[in-house]
Amino acid sequence: MKKKGIFAFLLGAVLCLGGCGGDCSHVWSTWAEERAPTCTEEGMEKRICSKCGKEERRETTATGHKWGNWEESKAPTCTEKGTQKRECEICHESESKQTDALGHAEGVWTSDEEWHWKECPVCGEILSAREPHKAENGTCTVCGGEVVGLEYAVYEKECHVIGIGTEEGDIVIPATYSGKPVTEIGKSAFYCEEITSVFIPGSVVYIREGAFDDCEKLKSVRFGDHVKTIETNAFLGDALLSEINLPESLETIGTEAFVGCGVTEIVIPDSVTELGESVFNRCKNLQSISIGSGIKDLPLMFCYGAENLTSVHLKEGLETVGDSAFAECSSLAQIAFPSSVHAIREGAFEFSGLREIVIPDTVKTLENAVFYSCKALVRAEIGNGVVSLGEMGQFADVGVFEKCAALKSVTIGSGVKSIASRAFENCVLLTSIFFKGSREEWKAIKKESRWAPSTNDWGMSQDVLQEVVCNNGTLTGTDMK
Ligand SMILES: [Zn+2]
Ligand SMILES: [Zn+2]
Ligand SMILES: [Zn+2]
Ligand SMILES: [Zn+2]
Repeated sequence: MKKKGIFAFLLGAVLCLGGCGGDCSHVWSTWAEERAPTCTEEGMEKRICSKCGKEERRETTATGHKWGNWEESKAPTCTEKGTQKRECEICHESESKQTDALGHAEGVWTSDEEWHWKECPVCGEILSAREPHKAENGTCTVCGGEVVGLEYAVYEKECHVIGIGTEEGDIVIPATYSGKPVTEIGKSAFYCEEITSVFIPGSVVYIREGAFDDCEKLKSVRFGDHVKTIETNAFLGDALLSEINLPESLETIGTEAFVGCGVTEIVIPDSVTELGESVFNRCKNLQSISIGSGIKDLPLMFCYGAENLTSVHLKEGLETVGDSAFAECSSLAQIAFPSSVHAIREGAFEFSGLREIVIPDTVKTLENAVFYSCKALVRAEIGNGVVSLGEMGQFADVGVFEKCAALKSVTIGSGVKSIASRAFENCVLLTSIFFKGSREEWKAIKKESRWAPSTNDWGMSQDVLQEVVCNNGTLTGTDMK
């Protein structure tokens, strides 16, 4: 503008020089506006020389807009920019500018039955991945929402039932949850809950420790066909549990898994190869049990105190009958051993209801107290494989047949080389023993003190045995000792 003004002045001066012949010393009027400036365009003013009439012009500066306040024409959203607009009070020209998007507000938890996620409270956009609830007592510990149904722990590829949640009564465990297979019933998942039945789907592989421990009202369990492991204490104390099917997929039953259960009939499938101790200990309603061919050793106290057990089916493959395995099975009148059995451990049948017993030739070891106090036992036949009746040198232990007060008939195999202390103590009816070997072989048997049938009341001992019938004659008196 300034340059233009100077230029106009010079132009006027040059013209004046021409018009006035170069000798007028102009006498100028004041500058007068010829054209008013606008917001954006220069104005023009002029002056006139009063002597020569020369005119001179110059531009005046544009005024510039007189802007009003910015006003919002489009509000910004969480994700989109907004627009503001202002207008010139003079020429009403307008301009606009963008304002930044607001960004989402802090997410709030939103949920449905299975999942929770965070949403923007303003626009509703989902801000976090959908994840399954972590329920505890019907409430999700993450989102605080109410969770209906069982409680689950969800992992990358599977999920586990970990609690009863809001369920009760008859429980049906689904095969999938959150789109993943349900593979485990977690540790103590139903501990002490008032459930009456449970259906376990084929997806479940593990029943973890104490999963149904102390479910006092549980009557029925249906296993799917993929359960491999039932862990320790899984059904401990479920006194009303009478219906149970052990699937062909089962491999392991943990220690005390069914202690005190109400089961009446058990078939352990051939697939089971591992059994813990005391699995069916004190199952007072148990009447019948069949032990699959996968079991080599029946562990300690396997069916201890199953007082109504009448039928035991042992299959070929079984090698040892463990300590007290059938002790106090007071209704168990008979049992047949497969030819694979080679050892019967301490107290295996003590206080049981056995009436007669045949130990096959394959059995080599008969430990102490195996038939201790079997009050109904009348007849015992010991195979030729047994080397010792009880364990030698264990004077404190009770004898193999000690206190078998009804025992009348005993046949001892020809393989016996020793008879341990108290083997027949208080077998008060045992007046005669049959020995399959010769008289000489009988005499050569190592016999510990108090081995023989005798009454022993308060330390007052009286001999009962009158004869030992051998294959080449009968021994009596001191010859038979
Ligand atoms: Zn002039
Ligand atoms: Zn304007
Ligand atoms: Zn938003
Ligand atoms: Zn939740």
